[in-house]
Amino acid sequence: MLTGIPIFCKPQKGPASSMQPLPPSLYAATAGPAPPTPPLVGDRKADIVVVGAGFTGLSTALHLAERGADVVVVEANEPGWGASGRNGGQVNPGLKPDPDEVEADFGPDLGGRMVRFAWGAPETTFALIRRWQIACDARQGGTLRAAYRPTHAAGVRRSAEQGIRRGLPVTLLERDAAGEATGTDRYLAVIRDASGGDLQPLDYARGLARAAMQAGAAVHGGTPVTALARAEGRWRVATPTGTVTAETVILGTNGYTGDLWPSLRRSVVPVFSSIAATAPLPEAVVRNIMPMRSSLYESGHITVYLRVDQQNRLLIGGRGPQRPIAAPSPVAYLIRYAERLWPALNDADWVHGWNGQLAMTPDHYPHIHQPAPGLICCMGYNGRGVALSTAMGGEIARLASGTPAEGIDMPVTPIRSMPFHSFWRIGVAAKVVQGRLRDRLGL
Ligand SMILES: Cc1cc2nc3c(=O)[nH]c(=O)nc-3n(C[C@H](O)[C@H](O)[C@H](O)COP(=O)(O)OP(=O)(O)OC[C@H]3O[C@@H](n4cnc5c(N)ncnc54)[C@H](O)[C@@H]3O)c2cc1C
Repeated sequence: MLTGIPIFCKPQKGPASSMQPLPPSLYAATAGPAPPTPPLVGDRKADIVVVGAGFTGLSTALHLAERGADVVVVEANEPGWGASGRNGGQVNPGLKPDPDEVEADFGPDLGGRMVRFAWGAPETTFALIRRWQIACDARQGGTLRAAYRPTHAAGVRRSAEQGIRRGLPVTLLERDAAGEATGTDRYLAVIRDASGGDLQPLDYARGLARAAMQAGAAVHGGTPVTALARAEGRWRVATPTGTVTAETVILGTNGYTGDLWPSLRRSVVPVFSSIAATAPLPEAVVRNIMPMRSSLYESGHITVYLRVDQQNRLLIGGRGPQRPIAAPSPVAYLIRYAERLWPALNDADWVHGWNGQLAMTPDHYPHIHQPAPGLICCMGYNGRGVALSTAMGGEIARLASGTPAEGIDMPVTPIRSMPFHSFWRIGVAAKVVQGRLRDRLGL
């Protein structure tokens, strides 16, 4: 039994109370079976405990297990329950700021490494999928960033110039070529990055969980962490059915972050993003919708993202109600927008609508923290976490295995909680409405 004075021990609210079922979505309806991940029972020791079984936690656990560490993953619900099992499935390269801005913000050494790391994240992700033979409809068909306003088109051209200067696999498509790549005349300029692509995210999360277990990690679903305490140089992670004592704890709870560690919840803004999906479309309809089968996201006041999956369903996502939804009707405006882009969709059957919470940061960079000895937190992918969180798992594993913070390809920073945090969410909702209005008015 541990003795000593805990440096922190806070009972957790939120996901701690009871296991929540997987919300309905296209992915929940079509994914292959989940691997068994029974709750933790009893008290055990490990080298490292990972809290949260999304891409961050599972990729970290896989990389650590591959290095021979004894790893236990504890997840409140089931692996992939959070954003990881519900997202747009777009494997997008890069960070929100452009490469020049990243290097200006962090200097040529760290900034340069960040650029190579983040723009290389899709390749890292597809390589990991190939290495572990994860069946998740992975397809490296490229990512399109599309602009329909002159100001955003100028931004797209700037990004393309910076990418080409760095030898990234990007092409700039001006109006006619943009029309050919997308099947609509809406876009003035499009940047295509050949390293991106798409996948079925719930299958990917389940495949990562399976791979982590094959590599030697233990993965426990239905195991909410209720408190963290440190005593005698070790962490004690408490759950309703057992405890794990370990040298190191990693928090990968992103948009579902609770109060396990002071101020962490207030360092990110959780935001709902929503998706609607059609039934498989007839070949005659789908043939002219993004015919290259690259994923697309818009440069706009409010990001809209689109892709056609391997069963010819169209998925459109964007900001929607800031509460859970389980049908396409609450995001009818997204459906109308898709019909405006491709009028052939007028008779399409929209059968799925769902959403989930991602985590935004005020500086638009993902955040990695080491707020106490043996404690690592990583979150805040700003809506582009499929590839980034997968790649970040490798960096977190290196940090947890003794690589100094300066050797990691992302800055390790202090936690900065936002003043007036609860108002940020209201601010986000207002921004969504304002963005929609501006888009409608064509401003
Ligand atoms: C609708 C939607 C669309 C998106 N589309 C894209 C896209 O197309 N491309 C892209 O790159 N990114 C996209 N994103 C973002 C991307 O999904 C996320 O950045 C990424 O999945 C984050 O993974 P994560 O593991 O950090 O967090 P999550 O997957 O959210 O996992 C966090 C986990 O922590 C668990 N947890 C929380 N508290 C506790 C606790 N106390 N004890 C135990 N477990 C706990 C939760 O149950 C949850 O399962 C989208 C997000 C959403 C919501």
